[in-house]
Amino acid sequence: MFSYRHAFHAGNHADVLKHTILIALLRHLTQKDAALTVVDTHAGAGLYRLDGDYAGTSGEAADGILKLFSALKPQHKSPPAIPEVAPALQDYLDLVASFNTSGNLKVYPGSPFIIQRLLRQEARDKLKLFELHPTDIKSLVANIAQLKAGRQVAVAREDGFEGLKAFLPPPARRALVLIDPSYEIKSDYPKVTASIQDSLKRFATGSYAVWYPVIPRPEAHEVPRRLKTLATQAGKPWLHATLSIGQADERNVPGEPARGQGLTASGMFVINPPHTLKAALLLALPQMLKVLGRGRGESQAVEAGG
Ligand code: SAM
Repeated sequence: MFSYRHAFHAGNHADVLKHTILIALLRHLTQKDAALTVVDTHAGAGLYRLDGDYAGTSGEAADGILKLFSALKPQHKSPPAIPEVAPALQDYLDLVASFNTSGNLKVYPGSPFIIQRLLRQEARDKLKLFELHPTDIKSLVANIAQLKAGRQVAVAREDGFEGLKAFLPPPARRALVLIDPSYEIKSDYPKVTASIQDSLKRFATGSYAVWYPVIPRPEAHEVPRRLKTLATQAGKPWLHATLSIGQADERNVPGEPARGQGLTASGMFVINPPHTLKAALLLALPQMLKVLGRGRGESQAVEAGG
C-alpha cells in the first residue's frame, strides 16, 4: 500500500476527464445561494509541479493537459486544432491556466485546489479533505496553508471512506462528494460502492462523483454497473462518462527509456448530476478525444439515466 503517488499522474488524460467534470459540477452547485459542503475523500497533495521529477519521470501530462493546451490555445500563425472549444473544456483549460500566470504550464492543480478556487466565501461553502499517504498529507497541509482559506478548508489524515460518514447530511443539505481512490488495493473497488450505498442512505439528494480506471479487471468493470444499480434503486438520476485515449505507438525511440502503456482509459460516474451536464459533455468529450486520442482503442462515451 501507498506506492501510488498522484504526482506521477497529475494532468494525465484521467485528470482531464475527472477535473473537467468536477468543474462543471461545481459551477452548477455554486449557482444557488445556500452553503455547499464538498468532501474530497482521496485528496492527494493538492498541487503538482509539471516540470518536477515526478511528472518528468512519467511524462503523463504530456498525453493530457500539456497536449490539450498546445493544441487548443489560440496560435498566432496556425489555426488551433478545434476552432470553437466546448465551454466545459474551455472552463477547465482556463482554470488550470489561472494557476500558471507566466503563460507556461508549470503547475497543475489537483482536486483540492480546483474545488477551493470555485467555492464562495460569502456563501460559507466548506471543503473537507482526506488523505492517508504520509508524504502527500504533509504536502497537502502545506499547500492548503498557502491558500490562507481559514476554516473554509479542513484537512484530515484519515480514511476518506470512513471520514465521509460524519459529513452526511451536511448542515445546509447541499453537498458534492468526490471519491477518487488510487485503487492500489483490490478492496477499494467494493469500498467505493459500499460508500455510495451508505451515503445515499444518509443523504440521497447529494451529488456524488466517482472516478474509476477502465482496466481489464472484473472489479473495475463492476464499479459503473453497481453504481447504476444503486442510483436506480434510490430513484436518482445518474451520468456515466468514459474516455479512452487508446494505445500509444509502441515503437520506442532508440536511446530513450521504453514507454509503457500505463492507464489508457477511465470513467466518471455521477449520481444526481446537473441536468445540463450531459449536453456539456457531449460537446466536450469528442474534442478531448480528438486531441488526446492515439488511435487503436480510442473512444469516448456519455450516457445518462434515471
Ligand atoms: N483527488 C486527487 C485529484 O484529483 O487531484 C487525486 C487523488 S489520488 C488518485 C488518490 C489519493 O488517495 C492518493 O494520494 C492516496 O494516497 C490517497 N488514499 C489512498 N487510500 C486512501 C484512503 N483510504 N483515504 C484517504 N486517502 C487515501
